[in-house]
Amino acid sequence: MTERPLAGPPPAISEVDPAQLAAWLTARGEPAYRAEQVLGGVHRADATGFDGLSDLPRPLRTALGAAFRFSSISGSHVLTADRAMTAKAVHQLHDGQRVESVLMRYPGRAGAAARTTICISSQAGCAVGCPFCATGQAGFGRQLSPAEIVDQVLHWHRPPWQALGEAWRPGQRSGHYNIVFMGMGEPLNNADRVFEAVRLLNDPSRLGIGARHITVSTSGVVPAIDRMIAELPQVNLAISLHAATDTLRDELVPLNRKWPIEQLIGAGQRFATATGRRVSLEYVMIDGVNDGHEQAQRLAELAAGWLSHVNLIPLNPTPGSRWSGTPRQGIDAFVAVLRQGGVPVTVRDTRGRDIDAACGQLHAQLAGRELPRTDRAVVGAVSA
Ligand code: SAH
Ligand code: SF4
Repeated sequence: MTERPLAGPPPAISEVDPAQLAAWLTARGEPAYRAEQVLGGVHRADATGFDGLSDLPRPLRTALGAAFRFSSISGSHVLTADRAMTAKAVHQLHDGQRVESVLMRYPGRAGAAARTTICISSQAGCAVGCPFCATGQAGFGRQLSPAEIVDQVLHWHRPPWQALGEAWRPGQRSGHYNIVFMGMGEPLNNADRVFEAVRLLNDPSRLGIGARHITVSTSGVVPAIDRMIAELPQVNLAISLHAATDTLRDELVPLNRKWPIEQLIGAGQRFATATGRRVSLEYVMIDGVNDGHEQAQRLAELAAGWLSHVNLIPLNPTPGSRWSGTPRQGIDAFVAVLRQGGVPVTVRDTRGRDIDAACGQLHAQLAGRELPRTDRAVVGAVSA
């Protein structure tokens, strides 16, 4: 920790181990309890930099700034929509790679508390290559580090966004606060770092977000689903199915050629049995492609009889795409078949269409443009 790798920037504070931080402090003649003070300070909602940690001596703040990065995100561009209920960021990382995160707020119904969901990326780009997904079309960039994953969440906790995540109060862990790995990348193709990021998010000396409020969405990396059962049994699992027959799924989710539907559903069933947690089967509705009666019936068979739930997502067409989303009527007919088969089903509301909130889209739009520094984030309000 005290020694920097020869290449690359200093470690980001969000992934520094508390024991290592304590050792670094002790080596500087500081009491070890300051580790807690530092971590407490950087995770406070008003934190803008090491400089602002006013309960620490000034020379220590300067030394922290030289040894660690306050964030692994060097700049962010943010757009808001739906009267600022949805906000989407493109974050720039130290090597110029860019990833996206989205904050979605839902008003509480009849006196209930508001709900906030933050959607984060696990990789820069994605190697799976689903043809309907902007990220998949752009190809793979690189793996994100645990800090680069956690710092997307921290971005929405820090000024000027802390008020947007209103369900969040430091020290008061909200039951209406969720993190979903549904941004760019296939989280289970970066399982070690994603699992470490989940542990950091869980850490009570950091954000302390309960595992039950975290969902990992996967296109079907079967061995890593089994690792989730063993290592993160309290985290929720969403499987991006999108087709109910192998021939169609081979095209829509090319990873299916490696782990076909039967194996994938088998892994989902093992997860449900081992954890007692309902697995969500995600299904993007593409007009005339995967929304026919036969697919609906086959999907009902795959989903019935175990602890699963189908979530239908109208396709958010990517620029230049030959496909469009299934119209309302088609979705209703598909829902009816699933309900008849005894399968619980929901239809996801499509947030932020006007800010290209489908993963990978805003990133593509901003390619080649300079992003403002994180601490001077500019808000491009599309409809505020
Ligand atoms: N790679 C993981 C997680 C990131 S994608 C996965 O595929 O599950 C998160 C979700 O967004 C997936 O269910 C994905 O299929 C969906 N998605 C991707 N592109 C989309 C689009 N253009 N319209 C609607 N949903 C999309
Ligand atoms: Fe990758 Fe998920 Fe996009 Fe498929 S849908 S290309 S797995 S990010």
